[in-house]
Amino acid sequence: MKIAIAGIGVAGSYLASRLKRDHEVVGFERMTEQHHDSICAWGTCRTKMDELCAKSGIDFAKYVIHDGKKMHVQIGDKRMFQIGLDGLCTYDKIGLIHDLVDGCEIHHGTAPKREELERDFDLIVDCTGFHRSYLPKIENDFYLPTYEYKVEYDGGVPFDDFYIKPFPGMSGYFWYFPLGDRLAHIGAGDYNKKHVKMTDEFLAKYGGKIVKTVGRPIRLATPNMCMPYSDGKVVGVGESIGTVFPLLGEGIIPSMECADIFVRNITDIPAYEREVRRHFAIYAKVFDFVHSKLSGQFSVMRHGLNMLAIYRHMKKHEARFGMDIKMRNLVKVARA
Ligand SMILES: Cc1cc2nc3c(=O)[nH]c(=O)nc-3n(C[C@H](O)[C@H](O)[C@H](O)COP(=O)(O)OP(=O)(O)OC[C@H]3O[C@@H](n4cnc5c(N)ncnc54)[C@H](O)[C@@H]3O)c2cc1C
Repeated sequence: MKIAIAGIGVAGSYLASRLKRDHEVVGFERMTEQHHDSICAWGTCRTKMDELCAKSGIDFAKYVIHDGKKMHVQIGDKRMFQIGLDGLCTYDKIGLIHDLVDGCEIHHGTAPKREELERDFDLIVDCTGFHRSYLPKIENDFYLPTYEYKVEYDGGVPFDDFYIKPFPGMSGYFWYFPLGDRLAHIGAGDYNKKHVKMTDEFLAKYGGKIVKTVGRPIRLATPNMCMPYSDGKVVGVGESIGTVFPLLGEGIIPSMECADIFVRNITDIPAYEREVRRHFAIYAKVFDFVHSKLSGQFSVMRHGLNMLAIYRHMKKHEARFGMDIKMRNLVKVARA
């Protein structure tokens, strides 16, 4: 088939790498080649990425920047606890994106009209993430604003490993994700819109030189809320159809898993849609839990069972999340 992939982020690049051998794949990326980057903290889990990248013939280990041992979690101004890590890492996300599309025809600095793509291609895959430029608008969309700096430290980094600070009522969190000895991503996403203030406060406290400033909304509406997944020749893959784990704002692995499901069902789109709904079914529960906290409607009676289901899911997939999953830590964060 002749396939257009719109959006060369994590989903689009992974999809291109998986399809380029058997199909004629052409990519379109809105950012220019010179400015092409990935607005993200670049945190992911090594074990799952090893497995997904191996399917594209890529050794993920080459892209790892920082291999986490513990995550410092700050609750309020005084309390801090640690979560043991086994797999959580930061990696060169844009470097991997470039290598995944190696050998593909990619047009940078362009966002073609849907009609043009429909004329020239058998299939158009909407991998435009939050923008969802080629699919109908989502009726009940839900997203958080985010803000992030890449910071360079001359006189030593403020933390030796991952650090996060959940905001009261679970409205979002601040993150410090290390990128080697001198660099880090610091940023925040917050429903109550304190994300810029919190990031600037951290910067003022710990110093560092801003190398880059980015920000964009992150979609927390989960796949069950992001219908339709397809429209005519267009099919959505990745954050365009809500593949972000809402509790963590984690979208890299889920978007690649979504691409993997697409590759397996490329000739049967209804089967792709069914498998997406099945695979991401737990995300609906996670969203309900997070939303109940955000809107101040959380009650143990109504949402306790969801919380238990989320814990069980995360515990069962501990290796995939790259961290020790403990109920008491989930409760500490939920109570923050
Ligand atoms: C600040 C921030 C930090 C994050 N940190 C993490 C993290 O540490 N770990 C994690 O797992 N997840 C993180 N996420 C979420 C994760 O980055 C995304 O969910 C994931 O990248 C989604 O992949 P995607 O390919 O679907 O979309 P994207 O990665 O957003 O890629 C979409 C691409 O489409 C392009 N595009 C947009 N519109 C058009 C158009 N009309 N035509 C052509 N191209 C277009 C964009 O320029 C972009 O390159 C973070 C998100 C944000 C906002």
